[in-house]
Order: sequence, then structure tokens, then C-alpha cells
Amino acid sequence: MVSFALHGVGVSGGIAIGRAQLVSHATLEVAHYVVPPRQIPAEVERFSTAVKEVQRELEALHLAMTSGDVPGEFGAFLDVHWMILNDPTLSDAPKKIIAEQRCNAEWALTQQMGVLVEQFDQIEDPYLRERKADVVQVGERVLKRLMGKRGATAANAEEQTILVAHDLSPADVIQFKHHHFAAFLTDLGGVTSHTAIVARSLNVPAVVATHNARQMIRDGEMLIVDGGNHVVIVNPDRAVLAEYRLKQNELEIARQKLKRLRTKPAETIDGELVELEANIELPDDLPQALENGAMGVGLFRSEFLFLNRDGLPSEEEQFEAYRKVAEGMEGKPVTIRTFDLGADKQHELLEGLTRVAPNPALGLRAVRFCLAEPKLFLTQLRAILRASHYGKVRILIPMIASLGEIDQTLAMIEHAKESLREQGAPFDPGVAIGGMIEIPAAVLSISAFVRKLDFLSIGTNDLIQYTLAVDRSDETVSHLYDPMHPAVIKLLALAIGSANRMKSPIAVCGEMAGELAMTRLLLGLGLRNFSMHPSHLLTVKQRVLQTEVKALMPVVDRMKRVDDPAKLISLLDRLNA
Ligand code: PEP
Ligand code: MG
Repeated sequence: MVSFALHGVGVSGGIAIGRAQLVSHATLEVAHYVVPPRQIPAEVERFSTAVKEVQRELEALHLAMTSGDVPGEFGAFLDVHWMILNDPTLSDAPKKIIAEQRCNAEWALTQQMGVLVEQFDQIEDPYLRERKADVVQVGERVLKRLMGKRGATAANAEEQTILVAHDLSPADVIQFKHHHFAAFLTDLGGVTSHTAIVARSLNVPAVVATHNARQMIRDGEMLIVDGGNHVVIVNPDRAVLAEYRLKQNELEIARQKLKRLRTKPAETIDGELVELEANIELPDDLPQALENGAMGVGLFRSEFLFLNRDGLPSEEEQFEAYRKVAEGMEGKPVTIRTFDLGADKQHELLEGLTRVAPNPALGLRAVRFCLAEPKLFLTQLRAILRASHYGKVRILIPMIASLGEIDQTLAMIEHAKESLREQGAPFDPGVAIGGMIEIPAAVLSISAFVRKLDFLSIGTNDLIQYTLAVDRSDETVSHLYDPMHPAVIKLLALAIGSANRMKSPIAVCGEMAGELAMTRLLLGLGLRNFSMHPSHLLTVKQRVLQTEVKALMPVVDRMKRVDDPAKLISLLDRLNA
């Protein structure tokens, strides 16, 4: 077998060795394996359980609808899905296929879906023919359930599986949190695309922007993914494999050593205390944040509660999620960002509202979307406020561009508080409200923003995108996405400097906060609060402990004024030497 290397952009470090599993654009390709005769009853049972789980999901959606959290017109669509799910052609036929063909449940279900789709294609009546899409959706729902709980045979096979995809949406990636893939490759994707951010949160090595990995690699081929060095080796020979196994061990030893820093305060040599907090997507990410000594949650990307599901999360469901995190952090700050939907994070139910905008990153996204959908926004605000009774919760508003948006949001929060007061529901009346600085206009308006908000958090991922007019999820312009562009550094200096002068707390919660190469620069610019993916917390802490801020200042002061990109890079190297 020919051995070759593919280069991309490593978005999550570490080394993984395993076999390739190619996945299609959006959904996992269904594995096919033989089930031994004695395991057939268990496999049939696994299928029945998945169907029951989907039944419960649909029931929950009905409930959400009657409580007004889901628009009424979805009732009809839920009824159709319920009927399809309970029809023997979908809920029984696959069981026969499992027994007859001795195959796994996923395979049996996909076979049966194929048969049904073919039957629908032959129907003359256009309305009925269109119900094919519903059959597929219901089938995929059961499939997702099955794939979340693989049978014994597949689970073992999965341990050393490396996912190879052309492209994946953030929603696809978050779905993989329930699987045990050893690493992750995609043809497309930029470093700060949401797909990459979520891939990082899977805590496995990941390389994106490989251009044609999906075409070059075949199912089952042996791969080495070296995220730190942005490389993938296909069909490595024995010597290369041995070398990488050694490297893997070394990395593991270094990781174990770092763990000793978990409870140590992050303090520079000259006594500057630095707060290191975690970015999370779902409550399940909390243990990892705590294991890595997070002093709080600096960014809870709450919109992930809205992805990969049919209905919208009710106030109750959101409240439970927020409360879990608030309680889990035991009094440490938990910064819940109100949902940043739109652009690359879409929800099926909202698609009609957010549309496929001509220019989604500049469209109805984040706070704009929240203000355009006050009912949804109010539901979330009430849920967050209720959770504030159980810990130190803070509310963070994404993508603010103007004072008007701040005023409208503050009014909505007041309204939510009022409605809770009327019901006698407890909440923290002094809950801090902050804004994300992600648009150049926000940096230039920062003094006005500071007067209205309790804290600020710079979203460098978007700030870079909007400053340079480079779509962060578009791989074709990823070479232009430059965190070290002099304009970006000047904006950061302005934002951090202004907030510090006005004594307003300011953090960075974009990917830059977790990049070791940027730690000293950010410290020198006056930043004392970093929020990042939990897996970076200890390495950044180590760097803080080895830094004397005073000694950085002459170089950082020059960096604030430099216009020549090459000069800027050489000064950065000097800081990190
Ligand atoms: C950012 O833009 O830097 C940020 C933290 O928000 P997100 O990556 O979710 O857009
Ligand atoms: Mg952002």
C-alpha cells in the first residue's frame, strides 16, 4: 500500500493512530457488520429501544407545543411523524431484516428506508409523494439514536476509528460527542470556523482544510493524525508507526505532568493574577472544565442546546441545563451567552425565520436574531435568570454593534425579570450583563458600551472575520484570516486599553485566548481574563507562570504601533523567545 502525507490545518493537537471511516456530507455513513446468531435478540431489542426513545422525543415535542414553546403549525408535522414511526413498515420490518440477514440494526433500518423511499417515489399524488421526506427524517431520527448507542461489535471497532469527511456543520460535529472517534479530518473548514471549535471540544486531534482527504483516503486505511503538526500520514510504514507511538507516549507524559498545575493560581512572575476560564458548548463539557482547573465558565455557547433536534428547547429544559452548569461551578462565575444562531448555526425550525440569507455572516444572526424573535429571546432570558438563583450566573450578549441593541436587550431582560417577579420565581436581581466585542464598530464604541454594561468579552474569531472581511468558515479565503494583522492588534489594544482605563472587566473568549503564541501578547496588552477550550487551560497557565509582564512591555508597546506584518511577527517571536 502506498504511504503518503496530507497537509491541512491542525485545529486540535495530539496524535491519533487508527483506521479511516469515511462519512458522507452530513450524516454518518451507516456501518454494516454481521451480528452473531446469539446476539440477534439483543440487536432487535436495541432497535426497539431506539424506536421507543424517538417516541418519547416526539411526545416531549408535543408537550413543548402545548406549553407554547413551539409554534402550533408543527402539530400537524409531529402527527405525521408519529404515524410514520408507529407504522409496522418502519417499526417492525427492520427487526425481520436483522434476524434474516444477521445484520446490525442501523443497516437493517437503512435497507428498509431504501425500500420505503422507492415506494414513495412511485406514488402519483404529489402531496403523498412529498411525505417521503418525513419518512427519511423519522428514519434518521431512529438512526441517530442507534448510533448514539452502538452494539458491542461496533463500539470496539469504533475505538480506533478516524473520521474523514468532506465538510461537517457544527451540528454534525456536536453529534459526534456521543461517539468515540480517535481523530477527525475534513477537506474544508477554517481554524476558527464553528466546526473547528466544536471539533476541538471533542478533545481529539483534528486536521481541517486537507482539501481532498475524502477523495484520497479509502475506508479502513491506517492513518496517523498529528494535529499539532497539521499533518496526516496515510498507510504509514512500520518505522513511522513506531516513531509516532513513541511521540504519543511522550505527549501523554507531558499531559500528566501539566495536571499538577490544576489548582495552582495563574500568577505571573511579577505577581499579576490572571483568570483562566473555560468555553463550553453543553453542560456535559463541565467535567472537562473542572478537571483542567477552570476558574469559571467564560463562555457557554448556549445555541448548541438548539442544534440537532426537532423542537426548540422549552424554558424548563433550558433552565435545567443552565442550572446544572451554575450548580456545577459551585459559585464560580458562569457566563451564559444568549443564543448566537444564524450564519453557520441553523436550527431547522428557525430556518424559515433566518432564511438562507444572501450573506449569512452579515445577516440576521446573534443579538439581531434574538431581538427579531422576542418570544424565543424572552424564554431564554427567563431560563437564565431562573438559573441565576443557583450560582453566579452572568448574561453575555453576542455581536453587539450599537447602543440601540444594548438598550433593547436591557429592556427585554427587565421585562423577563418583571414576569418572574410577578410569578414569585427567585432569581439574582443583580445578575451581571455583558456584551461581546466582535465587530470593529463595537471596539470604536467601547466607552459608550462600558457605561451600560457590567463586563465585556472580546470574540476574536468574529472580530478578525469582520475586521478583515474574511468569512471564517470559508476555506478558500482562510489564508487571509490573519489574527496577527496589524489592524487586529490595534483593535485589541484599543479595546483592552479602553476597558482597563474605565475599570470595566474585559476578557477574550475567542480562540486566540487559548493560543500559546498569543498569551504573552495579550498579557502585555493588559488582558487579565482569558476564556478558552478547557484542553488549553493548563498549557496557557504554564505560560502565565513563566511570564514577567513588565519585561514584555517595551516590545508590546512597539507592536501596538507597527504597520509592517513581518515586523509584527518578528516582535511576537521575540516575546515568546
Ligand atoms: C468569537 O467570535 O470569538 C466567539 C467567541 O464566538 P463564536 O466563536 O461562538 O462566534
Ligand atoms: Mg462570535
